[in-house]
Amino acid sequence: MTRTVLITGCSSGIGRASAEAFLEEEWTVYATARNPADIQTLGDHDDCKIATLDVTDGDDIERVVDRILDEEGRIDALVNNAGYGQFGPIEDVPTDTVRDQFEVNVYGPHRLIREVLPAMRRREDGAIVNVSSAAGRVSFPGGGVYCGSKHALEAMSDALRNEVREYGITVSLIEPGPVETGFEDRVESEIDGLDRSGAYESFYDLVEDYDAIGGGGFGAVEPERVAEDVVDAASSTKPPARYPVGPLATVAEIGRLVPTRIADSLWSFASKLS
Ligand code: NAP
Repeated sequence: MTRTVLITGCSSGIGRASAEAFLEEEWTVYATARNPADIQTLGDHDDCKIATLDVTDGDDIERVVDRILDEEGRIDALVNNAGYGQFGPIEDVPTDTVRDQFEVNVYGPHRLIREVLPAMRRREDGAIVNVSSAAGRVSFPGGGVYCGSKHALEAMSDALRNEVREYGITVSLIEPGPVETGFEDRVESEIDGLDRSGAYESFYDLVEDYDAIGGGGFGAVEPERVAEDVVDAASSTKPPARYPVGPLATVAEIGRLVPTRIADSLWSFASKLS
């Protein structure tokens, strides 16, 4: 039987590459985006249905999930991919902007999870794949808000995995390091929108000088590489809880084990180099 997946944030990057990878594996794909024009070409594929879905809009989510259940009778996998990076020193990011970040990266996945779970529990089958980040494993100066959102997604996923196991539902986290996508453009525009205190100019210099955040960084991988792990997590009977993707994700896994005192010394040393 053909399996069905719902994916958020398919307009570009990892979401789009994942939609294409599932289609290659002959899944029925519900590719969603805030603006349907961005995914029109995906809809040319016979097995790809497109829908408008903003993850901050509960009505959108209910409508799309109801449609899939009506048309397919089931949702085998949910891929919570939509997200963006709100970077900036903690003091320079207004609390409303932190809330916006959590609306998309944390509350969005939570809304979708709550909407698909009843049908998955009834069938005693399903896979939830949450696209987190290496920033969900470690936190770094200038990335506290984004890292906070991805740490929250990780914590909720770890709890959920052990709540739904008895219903035959799997929960996996995809943890890429830098990926070559449009992520970095949004990071830059969000930073440009900040009202700077003037106290953290070394952070802004670092972003401008070294292009250090997001897709263009050292060790960046292609979105298609991330999509392979997304499909694996949705397809396996017993997927790993975590899929670190790329060399910097492996460094983050190791970095997590470093005692805080030593990690702080390393950040202090790094800031003197910049
Ligand atoms: P991307 O190319 O910028 O794609 C992000 C997607 O999220 C876009 O489709 C965007 O849609 C969508 N999105 C943003 N806000 C949304 C909302 N409110 N509702 C629905 N969709 C929304 O970047 P990407 O790298 O593929 O990012 C995908 C995921 O990977 C994100 O969760 C990100 O945190 C994670 N990640 C990325 C990297 C990286 O270096 N690229 C590394 C680790 C993790 P619009 O086009 O409408 O804005």
